[in-house]
Amino acid sequence: MNPALPALPALGKNAADFLKRPRLLYIGGRFVPAADGKTFPTLDPSTGAHVTDVPYAGAADVDAAVTAARAALDGDWGRLPATARGQLLARLADLIEAAAGELAELEALDGGKPVAVNEMMDVPAAIEHFRYYSGWPTKLEGSTIPVMVPGTLCYTRLEPVGVCAGIIPWNFPLMMAAWKLAPALAAGCTVILKPAEQTPLTALRLAELVDEAGFPPGTVNILTGDGATGAELVGHPGVDKIAFTGSTAVGREIASRAGAAFKRVTLELGGKSPNIVLADADIEAAVAGAFDGIYFNSGQSCVAGSRLYVHRSRYDEVVAALAAATREAPVGPALERTTAYGPLVSAEQYHRVRASIEDGIAAGATLLAGEVPPADPEGGWFVRPVIFTEVTPEMRISREEIFGPVLVVAPFDDIDEVVALANDTDYGLAAGVWTRDLGHAHALAARLKAGMFYVNGWALGDPGAPWGGMKASGVGREMGRANLDAYLEIKTVWTVYEPR
Ligand code: ADP
Ligand code: MG
Repeated sequence: MNPALPALPALGKNAADFLKRPRLLYIGGRFVPAADGKTFPTLDPSTGAHVTDVPYAGAADVDAAVTAARAALDGDWGRLPATARGQLLARLADLIEAAAGELAELEALDGGKPVAVNEMMDVPAAIEHFRYYSGWPTKLEGSTIPVMVPGTLCYTRLEPVGVCAGIIPWNFPLMMAAWKLAPALAAGCTVILKPAEQTPLTALRLAELVDEAGFPPGTVNILTGDGATGAELVGHPGVDKIAFTGSTAVGREIASRAGAAFKRVTLELGGKSPNIVLADADIEAAVAGAFDGIYFNSGQSCVAGSRLYVHRSRYDEVVAALAAATREAPVGPALERTTAYGPLVSAEQYHRVRASIEDGIAAGATLLAGEVPPADPEGGWFVRPVIFTEVTPEMRISREEIFGPVLVVAPFDDIDEVVALANDTDYGLAAGVWTRDLGHAHALAARLKAGMFYVNGWALGDPGAPWGGMKASGVGREMGRANLDAYLEIKTVWTVYEPR
């Protein structure tokens, strides 16, 4: 079923060398196998082939990592001045930059994301995330409060929350690692990072780079494992904060467990994000934006614009242009440089998405573009872009996050109607509008229940711009100053200097 890895001419020397080294957990500044010696395989989604095995961290490894992280917090890392924390983050950014090509290849091999996309987006975004946060440690100031109590001084200290667990998904592995590590470290926390079981490789390479950068042992610990490893981290009494990106179902479970233990928690979960095309839009730009909005990363993006609402006067034109574009989409193996859309990450994800497509057809929607992929695919897990029309808001394909290249399109007649349609969802991650009318654009920005809103664009991001969702799309914000607050406690200090 999973053949041996075929020849990979596109894999460069550094990535090949990485695969020749033993793959080990990173705990307390040491590279070690899992305490019980267990491993698990990781596969190449473009071929289904077995790439390599990685350590499977269990309870003993989680405990060792938490102990190491606590020791670093109370020891060398905790004592470092802010300037030194910033310098280490900047050094790590430089090391990632030097390894960029290799990381792009490993990401493609492990997760099926096209190598060109990794080079253009994921790896630079990770680098810039560390660079952005490297400037923050020296700017985290408390304040002096002008209190009413006479003869007293009142000020606040910003202190790191403590030991943090970062649990991340497979759709942007290196980038998500950066999103979890950089702000936590900038705030002075220590971290245990757990990559997704589908995509452990770039996190393991990152462990080597963290080590090379010279962070004090235990500041960053990296454990490969699956949901059980993540659950051990969530339940460990030594973990003070959990930052999770992943499915809404697991996010709900983590939130309830964290809540019961009063652990701090931030969650970045799913979405079913509405993209709205008004009658006055630049249709060419809207079509290109809507296409990329849903099919980027083969739809495996929390922020995917999976529901498209088009003003009835432009509906036929938009749908025809989208359908034509889907037929030309360069879908292919992730290590081919010409590929823009890779396979889905795993057989499990492939079958989930396939079932959703079948469900849409059974519910009576029209499959305007794409097809039901084969039940038993040969080689990789490829699904060509799908468009459904004649959909109703009640259909599961209109309501549930599919996390694959599946778009539902519906017409609308007026603004109030489309606002109601767009907000009729459990989720609230992103929303957007294509229009030349600024009044409409900002009215919709105010009326849509979503953490991010795009006017004439989609999925824009910057390390400085808050990112996250409302409702079932999550709790808290990543990126920017906003994310630092999630890793800081405020301590209020009172001093009586004129006793009365
Ligand atoms: P998906 O279903 O798309 O794989 P998940 O939400 O299951 O997304 O996975 C996201 C991350 O959460 C992965 O690192 C996974 O190992 C981890 N995970 C899965 N289940 C749990 C759990 N019960 N507790 C903690 N982490 C979990
Ligand atoms: Mg893999």
